[in-house]
Amino acid sequence: MQKPRGPRPKHVPQRTCIACRGVEGKRSLVRLVRAETGIEVDPTGKKAGRGAYLHPYQTCWRAVLRGNRLEQALRTRLSDENRQALVAYMATLPESEAADPEAASEREQ
Ligand SMILES: [Zn+2]
Repeated sequence: MQKPRGPRPKHVPQRTCIACRGVEGKRSLVRLVRAETGIEVDPTGKKAGRGAYLHPYQTCWRAVLRGNRLEQALRTRLSDENRQALVAYMATLPESEAADPEAASEREQ
């Protein structure tokens, strides 16, 4: 099969982190979705509903959870209970890209 000249990268959907405005392929970001029960994490990225994307790092989560940027992006209200669930999820994430243990071990080698 003849290929067109030059590298022709496959189209990767790009999404913007609502915290830092960094643009990434959507697999590099965590999708949050507006569900009936409130805002929830959508690990599959496939749930129906208005979505917003965030880097999987606490720095970005903290930035949106501190203010109402997430609520603005998803046009909904975040209940205290809902906010606590997102804070709990945030606690499982690395602090920042630099603090990501996997990325750090790659650098050490
Ligand atoms: Zn970000």
